[in-house]
Amino acid sequence: MVLVMKVGASEEDINKTIKQIKEWGHSVSMAPGEKQVVIGIIGEKTDLSGRPLSTLPGVAKVLEVSAPFKRASRQFHPEDSVFDIEGVKVGGKNSVIIAGPCSVDTVENVVYLAKVAKENGAHMLRGGAYKPRTSPYSFQGHGEEGLKMMLEAKKETGLPIVTELMSVRDIDVVYKYADVIQIGARNMQNFPLLKEIGKLDKPVILKNGIASTVKEHLMSAEYIMSGGNEKVILCLRGTRTYEPSIRNTIDVTLVPVMQKMTHLPIIIDPSHAAGKREFVSSLAYAGMAVGADGLIVEIHNCPKEALSDGDQALLPRDFEYLMKKLKELKPWSQKEWWEFDKQKETDCIKVNK
Ligand code: PEP
Ligand code: MN
Repeated sequence: MVLVMKVGASEEDINKTIKQIKEWGHSVSMAPGEKQVVIGIIGEKTDLSGRPLSTLPGVAKVLEVSAPFKRASRQFHPEDSVFDIEGVKVGGKNSVIIAGPCSVDTVENVVYLAKVAKENGAHMLRGGAYKPRTSPYSFQGHGEEGLKMMLEAKKETGLPIVTELMSVRDIDVVYKYADVIQIGARNMQNFPLLKEIGKLDKPVILKNGIASTVKEHLMSAEYIMSGGNEKVILCLRGTRTYEPSIRNTIDVTLVPVMQKMTHLPIIIDPSHAAGKREFVSSLAYAGMAVGADGLIVEIHNCPKEALSDGDQALLPRDFEYLMKKLKELKPWSQKEWWEFDKQKETDCIKVNK
């Protein structure tokens, strides 16, 4: 349930209403908007039956939230969430560009790539030190040594660190270095891990699962948010489909579809979808064109020597080209379209004989 408060409802009324809901045994999630405050009530609908919600002080409207995800839902939080991550704004009208190697390999490479990222306008540095690999015989990541290399690159460039956490066991060490914790596709439904992340005060990039639905993705975000960590950035990295000519398929339509469902920022990972360097930039461009809140993209100075995902790494010159093209792009705004659509006079134009 959501209580939409009257425009200009007093703080006293809002507090009285919250107090009453809490006395009835429910938790409350607040979304202070520009015009109207929205109070979300967490709990099953049946628990509230018979409660005089519409007569509580300052309440304008009572809405039922049909989606099983509550905190992540736009009904609970009508305005876009905007997070400040070390001075970088994510969400709303801001585009965040995150670039870096798939795996951190050498300190020289990661510092060089951080400089390439920064010089071309990226806002954060990505790099994996704990790697989820299909084969147990493949490189598994440098662990804390890799995170130290990321820190060195951060010191040189000031770019915040985005890095993957795979296991509850590594939370403390990853927490120490990461500015944003990445939860990869394979762990999107690792519920014990999501619950632990929910207790942290660091933003999270939550990628969609290998074959997950939007609802499952949002329910996983809900796991994190229900623990108290509201800073979740959703990342579309594609799902496995029947089409083998591309590594994974990102349906870019999901950007506006998800923007309707959630207030959380949505970024695109074109690298793990395209799988090949030559297709990464076009997909990145498509994602930004439909209004994604940003990109996370893999780059490498010498892809053939990269310890993972070399085939899909953009070279520095490719990244420079992509960033130039993105600067010229005027992205679609689904929100503007919704505003435009509201002004329509008719949905049916009859043409007389
Ligand atoms: C990665 O970012 O390098 C990665 C392993 O991504 P994903 O979880 O999307 O496969
Ligand atoms: Mn990768």
